[in-house]
Amino acid sequence: MGQLIKGKLVADAISDDLSKKVEELKMKGVSPKLVIVRVGANPSDLSYERGALKRCSTIGIIAEVKELQENISQDEFIKEIEKVNKDKDVHGILIFRPLPKQLDESIIKYIISPEKDMDCFSPVNVAKIMENDETGFAPCTPAAVMEILEYYKVPLKGKKAVVVGRSMVVGKPVSMLLLNENATVTICHSKTQDMPSVCSEADILVVGIGRAKMIDSSFVKAGAVVIDVGINVDEEGNLCGDVNTDDCVDKSSMITPVPGGVGSVTTSILAKHVVKACMQQNKNFRIFYFVIKIKYSEVF
Ligand code: NAP
Repeated sequence: MGQLIKGKLVADAISDDLSKKVEELKMKGVSPKLVIVRVGANPSDLSYERGALKRCSTIGIIAEVKELQENISQDEFIKEIEKVNKDKDVHGILIFRPLPKQLDESIIKYIISPEKDMDCFSPVNVAKIMENDETGFAPCTPAAVMEILEYYKVPLKGKKAVVVGRSMVVGKPVSMLLLNENATVTICHSKTQDMPSVCSEADILVVGIGRAKMIDSSFVKAGAVVIDVGINVDEEGNLCGDVNTDDCVDKSSMITPVPGGVGSVTTSILAKHVVKACMQQNKNFRIFYFVIKIKYSEVF
C-alpha cells in the first residue's frame, strides 16, 4: 500500500522555519508584511484569505486585506496597486484572480511590482522560472508541489515526470520547476493521445486538470509518486481531487490526498514568499547590520 503524504507536516515544517526567520528580521527592525488585494467577495477567495491570514499571524507576518468594490474601474484598480507597490512597509502583494471582466489582466500583470508579486502574476516572475532564477516567485501551488516532493525526499534528478494539465497556474510552472530539478518532463493536456500509456511511464505523476477522480490506476506506474493538485466537488458534494485516490493508493508508492494534500501547503508557500521578498528588499540593510555586528564583535 502506498503512503498517503499529508500536506500538514510539510506546512508545519515550513512555518517553524519561517517563524525563526521572522523573529531574526524583527530583531533587525524589519517586519515582513503582506497585502492581499481582493475585488468583491468570492467565497473561494474568502476561504483562502482566512487560511492565509491565520498562517501569517501564526508565523508573525503582518497581513492586511485591501477589499475593493466588485465594479472598481481599471484606472482606480491600477492606482490601488501602484500605492501598495510604492509602500516600503509592504513586501508582498497577492491579487486574487480571476479579476472581474472590466479589469484587464493582460495590462494589470505589468503593473504589479515583480519584487512584491507573491503568486507569479508578473511576466517577470514567469520568465524567472524559465531561467531558473531563484530571485523570482513561482506560483504558490506549483511551489507547494515541489516543497512536498522535497520534504518526502522524492528523487527528481533523471526521473521521468509526467504533468497532466498545462495552465499558467499549475501545469506549465510545475513542469518548469521539475525540469529545473533535472527531471525529464512530459506535459499532457486535453489533446494528448492515449494518456494512460503516457502517464504510466511516470516515476512522478502530477495532475492538475479540474476533472473529479479522472485519473485511475490505469494511469499509474507501479511504485510511482502521485501528486494530486485538483480541487473538485464529487457527486455526493464532497471535496475530491483529479485522482481516484482509493483506486491508485495501492499501486503508487506515495500519493497526496484531497483534501489534506497540496492545498494545505499553499498558504505556507505564500508566507515563505513574503519572508523571501522581505529579505531581498532589505539586502543592503542586512549587509549593513552584519558589518556593524562584525565590528562590534571585534571590539569585544
Ligand atoms: P485550468 O486552467 O482549467 O486548466 C486545466 C488543464 O487541464 C488544461 O491544460 C487542460 O488542457 C487540461 N485538461 C482538462 N481536461 C483534460 C483531460 N480530460 N485530459 C487531459 N488534460 C485535460 O485549471 P487549473 O487552474 O490549472 O486547475 C487545475 C486543477 O487544480 C483544478 O481542479 C483546480 O481547482 C486545482 N487547483 C488547485 C490549487 C491548490 O491550491 N491545490 C490551486 C490552483 C488550482 P487544455 O490546455 O488542452 O485545455
